Amino acid sequence: MSSLSILAGARDAPAEEDLLKCVHCGLCLDNCPTYLATGQETESPRGRLHLIQALGHGRIEATDAYASHIDRCLVCRACEAVCPSGVPFGRIMEAARADLSRRRQPAWTNRFVYWLLFKKLLPNRRRLRALSSTLRHYQTSGMQRMVRSSGLLRLLPTTVRQMERSMPALPTRYFEPQGSFLPAFGASRHRVAFFSGCIMPFAYGPVHEATIRVLRHNGCDVVVPRVQTCCGALNVHAGERTMARQMARRNIRAFLDLEIDAVIVNSAGCGSTLKEYSELLGADPLWHARAERFGAMVKDVSEFVAAQPFERNLGPVSRRVTFQESCHLVHAQRISAEPRTLLHAIPGLELVEMAHPENCCGSAGIYSFAQPKLSNQLLNTKMDDIEATGADVIVTANPGCMLQLQAGLERKGASGEVRHLIELLDASYEAGARGASGRRPTASR
Ligand code: SF4
Ligand code: SF4
Repeated sequence: MSSLSILAGARDAPAEEDLLKCVHCGLCLDNCPTYLATGQETESPRGRLHLIQALGHGRIEATDAYASHIDRCLVCRACEAVCPSGVPFGRIMEAARADLSRRRQPAWTNRFVYWLLFKKLLPNRRRLRALSSTLRHYQTSGMQRMVRSSGLLRLLPTTVRQMERSMPALPTRYFEPQGSFLPAFGASRHRVAFFSGCIMPFAYGPVHEATIRVLRHNGCDVVVPRVQTCCGALNVHAGERTMARQMARRNIRAFLDLEIDAVIVNSAGCGSTLKEYSELLGADPLWHARAERFGAMVKDVSEFVAAQPFERNLGPVSRRVTFQESCHLVHAQRISAEPRTLLHAIPGLELVEMAHPENCCGSAGIYSFAQPKLSNQLLNTKMDDIEATGADVIVTANPGCMLQLQAGLERKGASGEVRHLIELLDASYEAGARGASGRRPTASR
């Protein structure tokens, strides 16, 4: 694939063939959240492709204005899903960001936060655990309340302030399954490996526990490799490809030679990155084929379970729910029917569809910290759509969306709850197992 002329020879420049696929038809515009929010062509897929091409051909400079149009893209890939010409927008945008990160120096505060996050924290579980313990102490000791009411947060950079506001209430117990083997409940039909990710064990341990139980209910022996690491999604979306490639190689090494039927993921953002490692390692002759083999083994948990005879032993979960489709599940992985198949199978559960469940909630990795204004605008629209359903549970399939929607509920002072799809299915298996005991099952465990 050839890079744009001025970038020839540069790594990670958008490929000319990819950009030339755009026929400027505009069919993507009405599906682009940033275009719909701003009404500006430069905040649309077509406009961004035009800017990227103009930069590559040397017609424009990488000014702050250019950078802001690239940065404001959510990389939600809604445009890619509807494009009749097959423009691989996600791939183009990730390469454009990598190219931009070589050309400009962001503010030192952002450079520091990104260095800390992408290079020091995400790839290192020990540091993440220490940070999680510190943050939990901050939340539970009363310090958070004090800091928030004192106005001290106003002295910090916007990115840090937004991070503090979006921080989930960390659970009192972590679930770090790395290094475990968990046999199937009953007869074993599959052997699968579980991808644990970076923050999930600390922020959403119960979701991991539920996922593994659901797999075991479906005849899976579950292996959780010890040496796996963060998938690198946040690095890739921000244009930081060096560390992302190191993480990709480490994960491929950890999973590829296990004798397994699939690598199971419960985070949509991680799943799409893992499936696309062959693009990240496309220029590496030693790793490209391995990355392709690895990617073919990766399955979102809903994708895997929906293909099993999973309906046996489900019990009632009497909740009214609505389903928010994570962008990296519906647009990047094109998984939309399977989560609904699982939800419809749960006895007593009522699924009420919201308007535009496929529209981004504004989470988009670090977007809610980096672009708080637009992110909040998208979240407000999403929360209005959710409120109109009358649902008391918002179901989704990605930790970033869970965080964002929880923040939306808190901001509205609403009483609902946010659950991962697999927690509902797990609650249904639990209800089925309780059977005649008469205890009322819940989605909360
Ligand atoms: S990206 Fe696709 S849908 Fe959008 S203008 Fe180009 S060809 Fe049309
Ligand atoms: S990825 Fe999403 S925000 Fe970015 S141009 Fe496409 S539709 Fe718009």
